[in-house]
Amino acid sequence: MVEKIYDAIIVGAGPAGYTAAIYTTRYNMSTLVLGEEFGGQMNIDYEIENYPGFKKIKANELMQKIHDHTLSLGAEIEADIITEIKHDNIFTLTGMTGKQYKAKTLILALGTKRRKLGIPGEEKFAGRGVSYCATCDSNFFKDKTVAVIGGGDSAFASAFILMQHAKKVYIIHRRDEFRAKPVVVDSMKLNSNVEFVMNTNVKEILGEKNVTKIKTDNPNRQEIEVDGVFIDVGVIPNTELMKKAGIHLDKSSYIQINSKQETNIAGIYAAGDITTGSAGIKQLIIAAAEGAIAANSAFTNTRECNHKLEGGDCND
Ligand code: NAP
Repeated sequence: MVEKIYDAIIVGAGPAGYTAAIYTTRYNMSTLVLGEEFGGQMNIDYEIENYPGFKKIKANELMQKIHDHTLSLGAEIEADIITEIKHDNIFTLTGMTGKQYKAKTLILALGTKRRKLGIPGEEKFAGRGVSYCATCDSNFFKDKTVAVIGGGDSAFASAFILMQHAKKVYIIHRRDEFRAKPVVVDSMKLNSNVEFVMNTNVKEILGEKNVTKIKTDNPNRQEIEVDGVFIDVGVIPNTELMKKAGIHLDKSSYIQINSKQETNIAGIYAAGDITTGSAGIKQLIIAAAEGAIAANSAFTNTRECNHKLEGGDCND
């Protein structure tokens, strides 16, 4: 059987990856999207209020629309975790399933994963009060008291979900100023069941079977009784695989790209939260835009590649 060589394989099934696939399929490129978790960060965000055309839409609802749109254009979508990227005149990817995939161009859109705090009790109580996903776990904290740790947009998105279930939500931040957008912070101030605890680091999570309290370095709030702790202290790019494949990363491990979303390896592009692009603005619309640019660059490359394949290497 002749192995299929896709025009484009997109690794990562979040907004950047899906948008790239919408563009490559419309360029008539055979396209495969490989993803571990369909939706990416959109599974964590709750309501989107800054995507043109939608004044307010649930993140998973918008993601489903993007997914359906991508499928309708003929892209193939498959669940696999890529463990190796090899490049010769074409790219060969190996998945956790043992399956191999081949393509003329690659678009990497694997996004980021949650950073851990690394404090005592964090691991011990994971799933027993400690969570990294308010969307997934908020239901368990109906009429309970929870703490959200972090001061960025994700912490506020979590607090927004939790305040609809919990009796009380503490947002605990290490500085006296939030990193989250002021409009979000201001609207959160209006909720009587939310309390900001500033200039405070959580030092330990304590409990018996489940979490019962946290210890902090704030002399006025040394202990706070809580039933749950939601940790939202930023993200780390999913680039271990890229490092092994020789793709250049910056000092924080984000993929270095140029204005065409090109990496240092010809034929490999990157898009979305995983890149150094767009002034570090990690937003849905930026991820989608980077996906579109990457697809356009891959299209240009594939056209050139097809000419070259007639008499030589593809990505030389
Ligand atoms: P982030 O913006 O990097 O914020 C991380 C927060 O965690 C910061 O407030 C940081 O404190 C704190 N932090 C980091 N390490 C800590 C530690 N060891 N102990 C205590 N606190 C710690 O990360 P994010 O909120 O996950 O957001 C990631 C990106 O996605 C951002 O660009 C964000 O704008 C975007 N995002 C956007 C939306 C939206 O627009 N709807 C929603 C979610 C995320 P400092 O402030 O002191 O550094």
